[in-house]
Amino acid sequence: MDFGFTRGDTIVVTGAGSGIGKAIALMAARAGLRVSAWDLAEAAILATVAEIQADGGDAVAAVADIGDPAAVARALSEAGPVRYLVNNAGPASSRELDFNDALAATVGTVQAVTDAWLRTGPAEGSAVVNIASVAGNYVGTDSAWYSAGKAAIAGYTRHLATRRAPAIRANAIAPGFIATPRMTGFAASELGQSLVERNPMRRAGHADDVAGAVLFLLSPLAAYINGVLLPVDGGWVVTQ
Ligand code: NAP
Repeated sequence: MDFGFTRGDTIVVTGAGSGIGKAIALMAARAGLRVSAWDLAEAAILATVAEIQADGGDAVAAVADIGDPAAVARALSEAGPVRYLVNNAGPASSRELDFNDALAATVGTVQAVTDAWLRTGPAEGSAVVNIASVAGNYVGTDSAWYSAGKAAIAGYTRHLATRRAPAIRANAIAPGFIATPRMTGFAASELGQSLVERNPMRRAGHADDVAGAVLFLLSPLAAYINGVLLPVDGGWVVTQ
């Protein structure tokens, strides 16, 4: 599946060393994009890039904390002209963080990376997808900062969609429960099991379920889709 991308265009994926970000990076490479894969964890991001290259794809790694403006500037300049951006990295909801610090880490980083990218002057037809959560705009969770931060990502995406188009398109995804490394404990818990039982699809999401939606929204197939927040949750929010 090539989604209609121009072969060799560059995509930046943050948090590409694990879970959803890794799945996006692998699928993007298979769709013909050159992947600039960013993560905090060096071993993990090198493993993602090695997997892409072994599969015949094109990828470069950047060890970059998206909360560090100097690291973001360095990674962007190493990436060259970037047509597509996926703001995926963010702290796990299970972490106990100060509310304001957590908002900065959750949505401040998305704004900072996007702004730095916009300053490079992305080519016509460029697009960004931000990873929010059903916990932002659809359901409440135990974590005050996670719910607030993910809702803020949706609001920021709407700002981009209305104030930066037609130069770029901006959309967001709200994943439901996706089985990734950070969710391993939750998947095994009673609450995790009951979420799966109550999901119309009777399973947790796979990282590839999210990756397919992200690539579609970035691609020319979605040329007139701008400003949406798309749940990828097996229909779970509709049951709430
Ligand atoms: P994951 O498997 O933990 O992967 C996230 C990756 O991002 C990790 O490699 C992590 O590195 C990296 N990362 C974290 N903070 C970073 C930073 N400041 N700079 C660069 N890289 C950073 O998590 P996931 O489940 O795929 O989640 C990805 C995104 O989807 C998150 O924004 C999450 O909130 C969202 N989401 C996930 C679910 C779900 O059910 N899985 C549901 C809704 C939304 P470390 O491991 O070193 O921290």
